[in-house]
Amino acid sequence: MSFTRVSEIGEFGLIDRLAKLVQPTELALPTLKKGVGDDCAVIELPNGKLQVVSTDLLIEQIHFDLLTTPLAHLGAKAISVNVSDICAMNAKPLYATIGIGLSNAISVEMIEQIYQGAANAAKQYGVAIVGGDTSASVMGLVISVTIVGEADPDKIAYRSGAKVGDLICLTGDVGRSFAGLKVLMRERQAMLDMLKENPDMQLSDYKPDFSDYQKAIEKHLLPKARVDAVKFFHEAGISPTAMIDVSDGVCSELKHICRNSNVGALIEETKLPILAETREVSDEFEDDATTYALFGGEDYELLFTISPSDFETLSRFKDACVIGSIKPQSDGVKMRDLFGAEIDLQNLSGFQHFAQESVSESDESEGDENVPHDHSHNGHDHNGRDHDDEDIWGERKN
Ligand SMILES: [Mg+2]
Repeated sequence: MSFTRVSEIGEFGLIDRLAKLVQPTELALPTLKKGVGDDCAVIELPNGKLQVVSTDLLIEQIHFDLLTTPLAHLGAKAISVNVSDICAMNAKPLYATIGIGLSNAISVEMIEQIYQGAANAAKQYGVAIVGGDTSASVMGLVISVTIVGEADPDKIAYRSGAKVGDLICLTGDVGRSFAGLKVLMRERQAMLDMLKENPDMQLSDYKPDFSDYQKAIEKHLLPKARVDAVKFFHEAGISPTAMIDVSDGVCSELKHICRNSNVGALIEETKLPILAETREVSDEFEDDATTYALFGGEDYELLFTISPSDFETLSRFKDACVIGSIKPQSDGVKMRDLFGAEIDLQNLSGFQHFAQESVSESDESEGDENVPHDHSHNGHDHNGRDHDDEDIWGERKN
């Protein structure tokens, strides 16, 4: 048996290989409308409605750091990121189960805080937490949430329905979660440095001033699933032709839609919704905010396409914008940058992108249209840790 490292094929390469193995099991049940390959699996119910199901994992030191993450926030985030996958199907979330792996460092009271946060978030979304499993863990805290929702067959949105001419839209703003993460990781380091230099001090003696960064940190620690946008689509009577939630960054999600819909895309850098607060953080770190938006991830906004005839109706929803349009597949997946140059997004993934830039930084030329200008790499992966602290994916940690 050969030994292929997961990092050699990447997370998506691995999913493709595993999907091939489980595909024969999908054939056994004709009520299965969609198996692996979208934000949720889709199952036809006897009453004609569609059931949607998704699972997401949060793992200590991969997805979160307990030094910078309040436990109640962690519980809430575990629910929100799952609800977000249900929203990405234009569906309504209903039930969730929580599996949790616990290290010795976690007390009963700490577990209660996680569940209190999860319960508060679930209540906001109208989701019932109906069970789960608990186990000891030697590798730190692990939280796995499985969520079930429901959709009307005429409203469900797959990644595969985008048509040439459709408008590409985003809810909210992007890049802010990564900005929050950058600040949290910097303060974490400062905290650890302080303890190293002053062994008598306690963690609670470290009092960082987060007042300038509140919006960014809140977006990272307490993202909200866009149930409001889904509610608007239902009430206004419009259905996105394709939809996905932004967990890995706009670039990666856009490529999923294009790949699944067999289309290309052109988005405009100037139209990316990036808040001033996000730009202030990226300026402070001498990064480019566009890089945060394209590759940062964990914003849990919705990236979706609509028919141009639905544009007027969509404009009644105040928290969404158009960032580009769907093109024929042969046009590729591109972004027109601030200078009018069309950058090919097809072969850029966040961390490959960062790696390319770190190699080519010294000789990056003005005329190189394949590398976004001025998008200086931040030298950190998804969780703000250094590249040499590589996980099994070798490229991304979620
Ligand atoms: Mg998703």
